[in-house]
Amino acid sequence: MSAIAYQYPEEIQALRDGLAAFIHAEVIPRHEANASLLDDEHRRFTPDGRYHPDVLRLMREVRAAAAKAGYYAMCVPESLGGMGMGYLAWFAAWEQITTSCEGRYWLGEVTVSHWATGPSPVLEHLTPEARERLLPGMMRGETTMCFGMSEPDAGSDAMMMKTRAVPDGDGWLISGSKIWTTNSPYADYCIVFAVTDAEAAAKRKGGISAFLVPTSSPGFEIQRVIRMWGHAGGNEAVLSLQDVRVEPWQLVGKLHKGFATAMLGVNLGRIYNSARAVALGRWAIHQALEYAKIRKTFGKPITEYQGVTFPLADSAMAVHAAHLMGLNVCQLLDSGHPARKELSMTKAFSVQAATQALDRAMQAHGAIGMTNEMHLCHSFLRMRMLNVADGTNEILRRTIIKEMLDEGVDL
Ligand SMILES: Cc1cc2nc3c(=O)[nH]c(=O)nc-3n(C[C@H](O)[C@H](O)[C@H](O)COP(=O)(O)OP(=O)(O)OC[C@H]3O[C@@H](n4cnc5c(N)ncnc54)[C@H](O)[C@@H]3O)c2cc1C
Repeated sequence: MSAIAYQYPEEIQALRDGLAAFIHAEVIPRHEANASLLDDEHRRFTPDGRYHPDVLRLMREVRAAAAKAGYYAMCVPESLGGMGMGYLAWFAAWEQITTSCEGRYWLGEVTVSHWATGPSPVLEHLTPEARERLLPGMMRGETTMCFGMSEPDAGSDAMMMKTRAVPDGDGWLISGSKIWTTNSPYADYCIVFAVTDAEAAAKRKGGISAFLVPTSSPGFEIQRVIRMWGHAGGNEAVLSLQDVRVEPWQLVGKLHKGFATAMLGVNLGRIYNSARAVALGRWAIHQALEYAKIRKTFGKPITEYQGVTFPLADSAMAVHAAHLMGLNVCQLLDSGHPARKELSMTKAFSVQAATQALDRAMQAHGAIGMTNEMHLCHSFLRMRMLNVADGTNEILRRTIIKEMLDEGVDL
């Protein structure tokens, strides 16, 4: 890691040390013992593309162990029973977990609850009845959820969604379709976004609401699991909702103001992805340099060739900058600054830097860099999709430009 002047506060440093120890005690041995299941595409998924039940069991075990150790709900507000740690802790935790998992032990990805699949500040928007039903299982890591915003005709432009929640007595009937919904094939609940005021939505002035829907509700169906990044199965799916009945206790946040709930989660997602990018980018450079020291061509180690090493130096500069940007934006967010521009810059820059670092590391390895054994290609694919998820690179640039046009060039 390049030297940085900033020192984490003691409690965050202790958290990082604890997480590193947790990954070494609970994740790596479990992953190693089940590597033939977890790392083999033919065993990891069932024919319909879902994770094998044993994979789900292992994930549940890690979640439960992390919940018991106090890590799983570390950023969940204290009012919900969590530790209430902020954005900087979230960044530090994900950077540490990804570093300790070394681009290989993906089972570690469930150590801290992700806002879209588990407890997070988003759940403060639940009604008291929903909290009572959902929180106990979710906080123990036993149950999970998913976040249904995107639709086949509404991705970056989410206001174009066609899913409708139509009043029905004191509740609503939801009908529509969702796509790319992470964890939906396995989730117990889905936060579904639907138009509740078509006129306001057409004017882009609210009109969209969020509802907590048990995935066992009549009319809620997983249509198919989507096979992503060349995998034989996946974590994302297409959902169909046909007259799914929801009651007032299932409303999340204020009626017609569902986007506020979504943006809270998306901010956490952008920090999470920036932290993972810094750690994976750094790991890629390390792997490339270690290999370059021992690989010889034309009588010399390939570290002698600037064609091999200068791209790694370029990546080192970019990953170091991404790290500093991440530390800075988290402190802004923790102090209550909205940091829209800075967070957009950080997420876009970090995932692009890491994607390029992984690509360069694969190139420095030659053919062996393309093999499953090196795990560089898995990490590359994982990072490549982050150029789209949680705000595409282009949409983030759109936010940066909009902020500068509205507020001035304050750099
Ligand atoms: C792995 C993964 C997991 C995901 N998980 C979830 C989830 O759990 N829940 C959920 O709701 N969604 C999820 N998504 C969906 C994600 O939010 C969308 O993919 C994203 O918002 C982009 O939408 P789109 O794919 O429809 O692309 P589009 O919006 O159709 O964009 C296509 C291209 O046009 C560009 N573009 C669009 N508008 C502009 C513009 N104004 N200016 C410049 N360029 C523009 C985009 O950047 C992109 O390159 C996930 C996506 C991925 C890849």
